[in-house]
Amino acid sequence: MRLGPALIQGVSKNSVLVSSVKQYIIIRRTKYQEAQILEFDDFGKALVLDGYIQSTEFDEFMYHESLVHPAMVAHPRPENVLIIGGGEGATLREVLKHNVVKKAVMVDIDGELVELAKEYLGFMHQGSFNDSRAEVIIEDGLKYVEKAPKNFFDVVVLDLTDPYGPEIGRLLYSTEFYAKVKTLIKTPGIVVTQAGNSFFFPEVYEDVLNSMKRNFSVVREYWTWIPSFGYACNFIVGSDGLDPRALTESKVNETLKLRGVATRYYDGRQHEAFFKNKVVVGVRKG
Ligand code: SAM
Repeated sequence: MRLGPALIQGVSKNSVLVSSVKQYIIIRRTKYQEAQILEFDDFGKALVLDGYIQSTEFDEFMYHESLVHPAMVAHPRPENVLIIGGGEGATLREVLKHNVVKKAVMVDIDGELVELAKEYLGFMHQGSFNDSRAEVIIEDGLKYVEKAPKNFFDVVVLDLTDPYGPEIGRLLYSTEFYAKVKTLIKTPGIVVTQAGNSFFFPEVYEDVLNSMKRNFSVVREYWTWIPSFGYACNFIVGSDGLDPRALTESKVNETLKLRGVATRYYDGRQHEAFFKNKVVVGVRKG
């Protein structure tokens, strides 16, 4: 193999993934994190924050579809949706695909990052920031949940930096935070969070899972292999009434069709697989 200029990104505390870089597009230290937008040979254009890949052109659909649709489909009519994080706008894009959505509020702490995404990551947001149903709020999610409308949102999607990643995101994986998020949900609502990687960071993962379990009576785990991350990304869903595991392949496909949702990766078959597959929690210290 021949490797030209390359980016070394952390996969765990002790392992890295090295990928050759075609071009660096922009490197900017925002108030909150170091953002790099670059182009990989294998993954196309990508967003990297503090040395960790967040999403890439060639596999972002696997991450964003997996994060958004299981919870959205499990809700009978998700009209009001809250996204916390999700700076690239791709999570917003996936939420807005459901034609029943009336309002999607996205709250990200980093306004400079959102502006960079608007300018350089058009293939991720695909115009979602300009959708009349979208509202983008630049604020710390921790503060937003204190004053957001209670009993309003049907679905909450937490698309934050990893629970073991930059300091700014870590508190948004706690029992206390989920308790506040719960007050914003209209019954029967549902919350989903990305949860980093359970193999390399088992203790952090178990903490996130337990924080969800302390707040919700139905908690389900699933994962998707993300090639550019070098690991399977974990997701956790919590609800007090809705259970995505109960949905059949045909029900999921029917709901996607009725709501006009076109996907590349997620469908009824993938949904059933999500909730049948085991989650592997690593044995080493996280
Ligand atoms: N795909 C992802 C990954 O691999 O970790 C997460 C994607 S997304 C880029 C993460 C976003 O979370 C960033 O835009 C970051 O600014 C935002 N974020 C981190 N902490 C936050 C907080 N306290 N409140 C709101 N947004 C936050």
